[in-house]
Amino acid sequence: MYAALAEALAEPAQWLCLPGREWPLFELASGLLPNSTAVPGLALIQDEVLSGRQARYAALIGGQPGQPHYWLYESAFLTGRILGEATFAVAKCYSQAGLQVEGSELPDGVVPELAFLSYLAANDPSAEQKFLKEHAALWLPSLGQALARGTDPVYAAIGQLLSDWITRAASRAPTLPASGQLTCARLPALREASACTLCGFCAQRCPTGALVVRETSDQTALVLLAKSCTGCGRCAAVCDTALIRMEPVPPTEVVSDAPRALRLSERVPCRACGQPMVSRAEMDFVIKQIGHPTWLDNCPACRMPAYG
Ligand code: SF4
Ligand code: SF4
Repeated sequence: MYAALAEALAEPAQWLCLPGREWPLFELASGLLPNSTAVPGLALIQDEVLSGRQARYAALIGGQPGQPHYWLYESAFLTGRILGEATFAVAKCYSQAGLQVEGSELPDGVVPELAFLSYLAANDPSAEQKFLKEHAALWLPSLGQALARGTDPVYAAIGQLLSDWITRAASRAPTLPASGQLTCARLPALREASACTLCGFCAQRCPTGALVVRETSDQTALVLLAKSCTGCGRCAAVCDTALIRMEPVPPTEVVSDAPRALRLSERVPCRACGQPMVSRAEMDFVIKQIGHPTWLDNCPACRMPAYG
C-alpha cells in the first residue's frame, strides 16, 4: 500500500489514467481498508487522458510562488520552511538504512517518505513504526485530509486513503492480535522449498509485508511473519514455479509469532574479492538458464577490471 500510494502521489504514471476501479490501489484499499470512504471515492473515478491527470497534479502543487495549494514536504507542511529540521532528520534516517534519494526530490517529500515506509515494512517493521511515529504520522494524515476536502475527486480519494492508511499503520502495533492468534485462516507454504529460486516476486506482491526476503552477510531467506498475513493468496498467484500454496490453518492451532524461514540459501562469495553476492539458489537458477560463464563468479565491481 505504501508503494502504491507513493506512485499515486508522484507525477502521474500511465496507470493513473485508468478508471479508479482498475487501479492497483483500489484492489489494495478494498482488501485492506474495506470500510474506508476512500474505496467508494476511488470507484467513482473515471478514466482520463494522461494530460488531464497531469493537469490535476499540476493544480495540486500549483498556487502562488512559494505558496502551493498543498505542501508535499514534511518540513514545509509542518513549519512553512523548506529545508528545515525535518528535511535533514529524514535524510539521516535514509542514510542510516543505507539509502538515499536519487534526483532532485527533497528527502522529506511525500513520495520518498512513502517509498521508505514500503522498504521498512518489508525489512524492519520496528523501524517502520519508529519512522511513522517520528515523521510520517505527524503530517501525512493531515495532508491526506486536506486533499480529501479539496475539489479534485481524483486526489480527494487518494488523500482520504493516505490519511486512513497512515493512521491505521501508526496504530497497528497496539492492535496486533494477541500472541499466537492469527488474522487469517490460511497461510502460504512452499511445496518444494529447495526448488524456490529466492527471486522475491512473491514478497514484492505481498501487500502487508508478511512475506519478506532478508539477507545477512552469508545467507538469504524467504521469511513469513504469520501474524501480518491476511491470507489474500497474492504470493501464491505470482510464483512462476507454482511453489507456494495456501494451506488452511485450523482455528485452534497456536501459531508462533516468530519469523518463519520458508527457504534458506547461502550467499555465494565473489571469487575475486570475497564479498557476498547473490544466493546460491539464484545462482543455480541463472546457471540453469545461461550456463556457467567464468564472469558469473565475480561481483559486478570485480567483473570490469577482469573482463573489460
Ligand atoms: S516462492 Fe516462488 S516467487 Fe517466492 S521467492 Fe520462491 S520462487 Fe520466487
Ligand atoms: S497470503 Fe501471501 S501475499 Fe497475502 S498477506 Fe499472506 S504472505 Fe502476503
